Amino acid sequence: MKLAPSIVSADLTCLREIVKEIERYGIDFYHVDVMDGHFVPNMTVGPDFVKNLRKLTELPIEAHLMISRPELYVKRFEESGADMITVHIETENFREALRSIVDAKKGIAINPETPLHMAGEYFGDVDIILIMTVHPGFSGQKFITSMVDKIRELKKIRDEGDYRFEIAVDGGINKETVKFVKNYVDIICAASGIFSGRLEENIRALKYDP
Ligand code: MG
Repeated sequence: MKLAPSIVSADLTCLREIVKEIERYGIDFYHVDVMDGHFVPNMTVGPDFVKNLRKLTELPIEAHLMISRPELYVKRFEESGADMITVHIETENFREALRSIVDAKKGIAINPETPLHMAGEYFGDVDIILIMTVHPGFSGQKFITSMVDKIRELKKIRDEGDYRFEIAVDGGINKETVKFVKNYVDIICAASGIFSGRLEENIRALKYDP
């Protein structure tokens, strides 16, 4: 399983030191939660943050765009150094947004209340399908246990079909909840599950001993 820390949940006043530390403990890539205060009721960072993070690491960077008009910003995230861009199936111009990703890997994010079949026609076109296991907007929320069935169903669809996408899970993952999903997912995104408490212990528990 790959581990992707949601880096905006770290203490950003010492980003350089944190990047060094978490890479020593073994993470796979960075997950950047981008929020616009419109698609979700919170605001975080934009392309300039990705550009700065790019200077600090060689690892891939994923931009998870929780914004209403992703199609207008995809190019700027690509130019800032994002290697993967994940857009929400619930956005109005989703099709256009997905099509606008040309220099990065493509991801689809699916909110808890959105059924999988909404994204079905794109399963063959994408590199990552990210299942939200909380309602996006704030870190520290409780994992929605009923999402395990959805994740299991997605794995079944992939295993029975001819798909290459990786399955990611995002929201409320910590050393307890990782046990529910570890058999079905390829990528774990975690925020407070990594950054609250001891980094080394959290990373070990999620990545090496789930
Ligand atoms: Mg995220």
